[in-house]
Amino acid sequence: MTVQTTRPAAPLTRRAALRGIGAGAVGGMLAGMLGGCAVRGRSALALPQDPAATAAPDLVDLARFDPRLKLDIRYATPANFMGRVLYPLARAVAQRPVAEALSRVQTRAEAAGYGLLIFDAYRPWRITQAMWEATPPEKREFVADPAAGSRHNRGCSIDLSLHRNGAEVAMPSPYDDFTPAAYRNNTAAAAEALALSRLLESWMVAEGFVPLANEWWHYDWAEWRRYPIMDVPLEDVTAG
Ligand SMILES: [Zn+2]
Repeated sequence: MTVQTTRPAAPLTRRAALRGIGAGAVGGMLAGMLGGCAVRGRSALALPQDPAATAAPDLVDLARFDPRLKLDIRYATPANFMGRVLYPLARAVAQRPVAEALSRVQTRAEAAGYGLLIFDAYRPWRITQAMWEATPPEKREFVADPAAGSRHNRGCSIDLSLHRNGAEVAMPSPYDDFTPAAYRNNTAAAAEALALSRLLESWMVAEGFVPLANEWWHYDWAEWRRYPIMDVPLEDVTAG
């Protein structure tokens, strides 16, 4: 596949980025951000460049790569912490080694009677920026600072849970619950939920992922630093 790590902010690109993203408020918000803040507004930010990111992006479409993976892309629906559609399509893409590892985790899960339920993978940088802008300062431990970029922007983070026969299991908190209930050291949750969270963690760690301490659903590929921060809209990613 080919993917550019930076894109000119041409009007055509901007229109393409907004095509199909919700209606009214969301489009307006993103349009304002893309056309205003990101270019010349008060919080003008350039796409962060990481000199350590020397690997060429090699994004793959997770559903195509391993059809056993079940997707529940919350940001493609209003059922997310923003309460708005952020992705114009329900798609999960990740760097190839991440997809390969995830496939191995799926095999481990199946052996125990479960399957993986993917909430999010690669996330364009502009979406990280929109999330940051919309999140009150006291909750920003749960969202990435766009000035540094997110590991999701590198195609190296996966937000996921487990399902059993297609039904999402109960975990210690809902996805994107921005409270301490989401912390991995939350022992107040139901014993079964904690056990399932730890089971998923053991499989993910065994295949090369690093768990995030304050979100039970978030894992980073150990070698995330090798991949650049990207801002290609999901619908424009040409993934193998
Ligand atoms: Zn995440």
